[in-house]
Formats: sequence, structure tokens, C-alpha cells
Amino acid sequence: MFKLAKEMCRHLEQPLNSPKLSARAMFDHPPANCFNKGCVMMIGGAAHSTTPFQGHGAAQSIEHSFVLETLLGKTEDKAHIAQAFTAFNQGRRSRTKRVVITSRRSEELMGMKAPGIGDDIVKMRERMQTRMNWIWNSRS
Ligand SMILES: Cc1cc2nc3c(=O)[nH]c(=O)nc-3n(C[C@H](O)[C@H](O)[C@H](O)COP(=O)(O)OP(=O)(O)OC[C@H]3O[C@@H](n4cnc5c(N)ncnc54)[C@H](O)[C@@H]3O)c2cc1C
Repeated sequence: MFKLAKEMCRHLEQPLNSPKLSARAMFDHPPANCFNKGCVMMIGGAAHSTTPFQGHGAAQSIEHSFVLETLLGKTEDKAHIAQAFTAFNQGRRSRTKRVVITSRRSEELMGMKAPGIGDDIVKMRERMQTRMNWIWNSRS
């Protein structure tokens, strides 16, 4: 195992020592007040882009697709599409907003910057073991 780690580190040594090393910034999207205007809807990164620290940006779009399919499947008249989109907006926005916010918190946790936790490895582990529960076990 140490031999493997040493081999992996050998590949990291060169870029870490390189003067060409550059930094990358990552941003999320301030929560949008609304996802739709009438029959026009935005979803995905355009509506709720998030940092990747809990791996749930694209997963939100998969959930969206399921909800949209259900709502539009019950819409028999095209005049009611805007209503379906408004229902979607009301039902989905708070969850995606929470994903964006908790992903930021996750970044703090992994970066050892979480208030009251910092680099305390025991507290970090405790938080990591439970912090995804709300996403997996609740619909809101
Ligand atoms: C490092 C990283 C890791 C991630 N890991 C995960 C993960 O593990 N699990 C997960 O669920 N999600 C993850 N995500 C989030 C996921 O990648 C996004 O939620 C998802 O890609 C959003 O899909 P999208 O189609 O809405 O937008 P995008 O994938 O951003 O697609 C938008 C497209 O539109 C194009 N475009 C932009 N402007 C214009 C224009 N004016 N004209 C034409 N085209 C344009 C762009 O070039 C792009 O191809 C991660 C994201 C990052 C950055």
C-alpha cells in the first residue's frame, strides 16, 4: 500500500513543484427567486448551480425530471402547462436551495474550516457520516 502511495505521490511531485501551477476558483449560484415565468422554465446549472462538494448538482436535475414528468403527465391541456411549471417551482426550489447551501458547508467541512469543527478529525467524521441523510431520506 505504501509502495502504491509513493508511486502516486511521485506523479504529484512534479506539478506541485512546477511554477506553472495555477489556481481554480469554484462558484455557486445565489438561489434564484423563481425557476419559471409562464411556460418558460430553467433547471440545472442555469437555475441552481452548486459547488460539487456533495456531488448533488446533476442529481437535482434527475429528481427534477421525475417530478416534471409526473406533473406534465397529468396536464391534458397545454393551457395548464404554466400551472404545472408553477407547481414545480413551488415544490422544488427550497430543496435545490438547500443543496446549494449545504454544499458550501461541505466545502468548509472538508477544508477544515467548519465552525466548531475545524481540523478535529473525530468531529469531521461524525458530521460526514450524517450530513447527507436529509438528501437521501427526505423529499423536501
Ligand atoms: C467538479 C465538479 C464535480 C461534480 N460532481 C458531481 C457529482 O458527483 N454528482 C452530481 O450530481 N453533480 C456533480 N456536479 C454537478 C454537475 O456537473 C452539474 O449539476 C451539471 O453538469 C449541470 O448540468 P446542466 O446541463 O444544467 O449544465 P452544464 O453541464 O453546465 O451545461 C451547460 C452547457 O451550456 C453551454 N453553454 C453555456 N452558455 C452557452 C451559450 N450562450 N450558448 C450555447 N451554449 C452555452 C455550456 O458550454 C455547457 O455545455 C459536479 C460539478 C463539478 C464542476
